[in-house]
This record gives sequence, structure tokens and C-alpha cells, in this order.
Amino acid sequence: MTMNDEKTYSVADALACVLKHATLRGVEEIALDQALWRTLAEDVRANRDQPPYDVSAMDGFAVRSADLTVGGAALTIVEDIKAGDRPKATLGAGQCARIMTGAALPTGADAVIRVEDTRPLTDTLVEITVPVKPGNDIRRRGDNMRCGDVVLTAGTAITPGVMGLLATVKRARVSVHARPRVAILSSGDELEALDAPLNPHGIPESNSHALTGQVQALGIDPVRLGIAPDKPEVLARYIRQGLDYDVLLVSGGSSVGMHDHVRPTLEALGVVMHFWRVEMKPGFPLAFGTHGSTLVFGLPGNPVSSMVSFEQFVSPTLRRMLGHRSLFRRTLTARLTHSIKHRPGRVEFVRVTLVAGNDGRWNAASTGSQSSGDLTSMARLDGLAIVPADCAGLAAGDAVQIQLLDGGMFQETSGFLADGTA
Ligand code: AMP
Ligand code: MG
Repeated sequence: MTMNDEKTYSVADALACVLKHATLRGVEEIALDQALWRTLAEDVRANRDQPPYDVSAMDGFAVRSADLTVGGAALTIVEDIKAGDRPKATLGAGQCARIMTGAALPTGADAVIRVEDTRPLTDTLVEITVPVKPGNDIRRRGDNMRCGDVVLTAGTAITPGVMGLLATVKRARVSVHARPRVAILSSGDELEALDAPLNPHGIPESNSHALTGQVQALGIDPVRLGIAPDKPEVLARYIRQGLDYDVLLVSGGSSVGMHDHVRPTLEALGVVMHFWRVEMKPGFPLAFGTHGSTLVFGLPGNPVSSMVSFEQFVSPTLRRMLGHRSLFRRTLTARLTHSIKHRPGRVEFVRVTLVAGNDGRWNAASTGSQSSGDLTSMARLDGLAIVPADCAGLAAGDAVQIQLLDGGMFQETSGFLADGTA
């Protein structure tokens, strides 16, 4: 099948198309400590009530509130209860137990007094200086979760907090979605491998390395297939290898120059092409096809275009294949510090850094050169400002949506430090 050569896809249509083909690749059971950033393939239920019994929320004394309606009573300490202890005594009138945070309440006790509201009289006698209501400073059995409750649903991303919760419900092994296998192929006669000697006319092959980082940031270790020359038969051999993977990223050679053989070669190998031009800048020549269950992206050769295209289409695709519910980069609204010229037609992604203004709102400033060959913009950015396709230009002070990328996740200053930095 061939596609309509005239057809260009909007970003929205292209995104819908790739996501339609992003399918899960099975389930595997792995050790909890290997599970960071994977996604649960099962609902996880509480294995018991949590807390498993009524516990103290404070270090202090477990008491009978009936003894303390007015305050100022002296109580006899009949037991010391630590977290994890099984209390032995039943409290009678005038009795209390010394108790630690998280320890089980003894039978008969219906309130806890924190140690700050008491005064020791003797080793076995304590004065309670305040009145108390039933239930004070008690965490009830099942307050956090009840046995059998679903505490995590399938599709939840396994963050450090989720790992802690899984351990709380005693899950040493968890069922997660399998990771898609990803191959990266660069194409272009002019490309010089990272370990090749420097040739004054060579173009350093950088896309497969940037793409490796982008794939790894999603928790997948891709395989690099090397650099294919611009010869259709040799290129075909490389691509055939790549079609054994779940996702093949082919970098370069996907536009319409006379050395751009990727698209015809993919078609000759039976790849069904869905689109090959997307109305965006950078990244216009972006091809997408499928071969059985393999997804093939023909990414533009320009280094910035390659990375921006990956962010818009490959990253959400891989996240869906990983089982994530949240597929897209978080966006926030910022104010431009300068104008942006824009001819209506294509969505433009402008590389920006973010600085918090005095009013607490974000200011976005271009990283400098927006040339699609200039990777310094990708190395410096906090995010991508989105200039909508129909926009006729933006002025300084205009609000703009920013897609936050990894570079924007940390900052140099802390509000806790007197002058902001350490
Ligand atoms: P192409 O899409 O093959 O026409 O390439 C467009 C531009 O990107 C050309 O200047 C190429 O030299 C450059 N380019 C293509 N592939 C890579 C790559 N893997 N690493 C760095 N630059 C590349
Ligand atoms: Mg090329």
C-alpha cells in the first residue's frame, strides 16, 4: 500500500495515528527493586488492614479517657509498649501504659496523651496534665487501607513512593508491562561514527546517541544498529534487521532529496506507510509506518528535528507501549520575555529556558539559535514553547504553553537557603 504523496498530517492527526498503533507487548513478573519506572500490569490489593490494629500516633501514654475528664490525674504505668509489641495488660481504672508511636493500643485504652502533656512522678506513676477526649492521637485499624482494597491500579507508574507502598503490602515481585525492544538506525554517507577518526568533511553522527538517551530516559535500553550508507540495497539490509524489533527508529534520509532512500526502501520491504510529513517546525519530514506489529519512525536527520520529533511522537508511543497512562510531557503556562516571529502554517517548537519571575510566574526565554542543526539549543533547554500552527507571531509578555523536558526538572536554587544557592 502506498500513501497519498500530497498528504501532510497535522501534529494532532499524526499523534492520533501513531498512538493508535502503540500496543502493549506482554507482561512479566520482576523483583520489586528492579521495577522503578515500569508500570503495573495488575491491580494490587492490601494484604491486611493498615494499620493492622489501633495504634498510637505519638510517643506518650495510652489511657482510659474516663479517668481524665478534668486533667491533672496521676495514673499507674502498668506496661511499656513499643512498635511491634503485642500488649499484654488490659488497662483498669487509674492505669495507663507507656506507648511509642506506631505501637498497638492495649485493651481498655481509648486515647493517647503525648509525652509533652505529662509529668513523671515516680518510675511507675505519671501525672497527666490535660483532659482528653476518647480517640485522641489514635490511628485506627484500617485508616490507611483495608484488607482487600485495591491500593494501586494497573497502569500505575512505579515511582519510589509506589515501591514503598508495594513493600508495605509485601509484594516482593510485581507484574509489569514488558518493555518494547527498540532499535536505532542512522543513515547517511556523510556520517562519521563517534569512534571514527575526525574527518574535516565528515558530519559527526550524533542522532543515534541523542536518541539513545531519549529512549533510556524512558527506562528502555535501545540497540544501535549502526550507520547505513545511502545505498538502497545496503540500507535495506540494515532496515530488515530493525524490523525484528518492536520499534525501529531510522534517522535521516526520510525527506525527498536524491539521497533520501528511507521511505522507498521501507515500502519495498513491506512497511505500510501512514504519513511522512507533519506540519511542524522543526521536524517536517517525519515518516511513520508499520510492519506487522513493528512501528517504524523515519526521523528527520537534522539533530534538533530528530529530538523534537522523538519528543512529540516517539516518546508518547513508547510510554503507551510501556503501559503508562500519562503519555505526554507536563505543560505549564509561561510569559515570553521576547517576541517570536511566526508564519501561520506549522506548529513551531521553540527551545526555551524558564526563570521564575518575582510574581511567581514563569518567564520563558529562547535558548538562542533555533537552527534545526544547532544542538546547543537542545543541550540548554528547560522545555519547548509551543507556537500554535495558526499563530501570526507572539509579542514579549504573551502567554505561551511550555512542554517541560528533562532539563527543566531541577533548578540551581533552593528557597530554603538564605541566598538561594549553596
Ligand atoms: P537528511 O534527513 O538525511 O537529509 O539529513 C539532514 C541533515 O541532518 C544533514 O545535514 C545530515 O548530515 C544531518 N544528519 C543526518 N543524520 C544525522 C545523524 N545521525 N547525526 C547527525 N547529523 C545527521
Ligand atoms: Mg541523509
